[in-house]
Amino acid sequence: MTAPNEGMDAPHALPNIKEFTREQLGAVVAGLGEPKFRADQLHRWLYSQGASDFDSMSSISASLRRKLSSAYDIRSVKIESVACGTPGQAAEEESPTVKYLLRLPDDELVESVLIPSGERITACVSSQAGCPLQCEFCATGHMGFRRNLHASEITDQVYALQDEAALQSGGRITNIVFMGMGEPLLNLQNVMEAVATLTAKDYRFSIAEKRITISTVGLVPGIERLASSGLKTKLAVSLHSADQELRERLMPVARQYPLEDLGKAIDAYNRMTGLPVTLVYMLIDGVNDSPGDARKLARFAKRFLCKINLIDYNSIVNFQFRPAHTDTRNTFVRQLLDNGLIVTVRKSQGAAINAACGQLATRPGPTAPNRSNH
Ligand code: SF4
Repeated sequence: MTAPNEGMDAPHALPNIKEFTREQLGAVVAGLGEPKFRADQLHRWLYSQGASDFDSMSSISASLRRKLSSAYDIRSVKIESVACGTPGQAAEEESPTVKYLLRLPDDELVESVLIPSGERITACVSSQAGCPLQCEFCATGHMGFRRNLHASEITDQVYALQDEAALQSGGRITNIVFMGMGEPLLNLQNVMEAVATLTAKDYRFSIAEKRITISTVGLVPGIERLASSGLKTKLAVSLHSADQELRERLMPVARQYPLEDLGKAIDAYNRMTGLPVTLVYMLIDGVNDSPGDARKLARFAKRFLCKINLIDYNSIVNFQFRPAHTDTRNTFVRQLLDNGLIVTVRKSQGAAINAACGQLATRPGPTAPNRSNH
């Protein structure tokens, strides 16, 4: 069996075993004349034990190890550089948020962020290198789309960040959010495969599904697929406006999935999973922060089992947007609360090192010199 993306890693002679899904590993070992259960052993060595060579896989027979070594290579995601915020660098940041630039096996770059907050350590991971959706406020969108990440490249980000968390504080990642670069629902198969590995109960890194949040700008087919998948991960929908015209301006993909369809998908998600949805709303000065905007948001949100997460817009050099003023934000919050909605106001973490929402980018876009997201 050849690697699914054969040709991407041109300088390497052998295909990377980590490009295969768990199911495909079954075909790999069968192709080497071995029983399929060996694929489970191989998967465990790669994703529970973190093996970086076949020789170390002691529970696998020497002959299979030899066959694997001569046909495949193991190449993982590597940390390229680190940008560390310190308390006080950005107003209100209580602990350092650390942004990592990671190099994928084919030399594409993505960013991941480690966000310690009280007892929590959250890993914010990327699902795509770049993003095709071109949201107006987002640096990743402005850098263009490179490719989808393999499931292993997603799990590798978490493992790399876990090693860092252990080094920094002896801590353990408590939450994972798919809010890094890319739209996770455009790469849902690999995201779900990564979630299955990260939540595997008898693996070394094992996290509960409810501690994982998958974020989307509102791709209806993806929300429907998630609803029927049986996964108990959390869903966050980046709304940013409950006005169709404004939403289309901020997120061009909204033309394809209008608010009415998005509402039906969220409603079906609530009913099928019994889970609430988080509606994420980034307050942008003079754009979506008026009492009228709050009224539209309240009218939209009241139909669902949901909470609203208000976040600050993080300024990006050369983008025309600015964060809402504190008084405006407080009025906005009050209006939502008066409508009986559950509202959280999230403090921006990592703005000082361009690690906050909307600021991740590994290369300059046409109008965004430096920075990403939902
Ligand atoms: S906000 Fe999310 S979906 Fe939109 S361009 Fe940025 S990464 Fe892509």
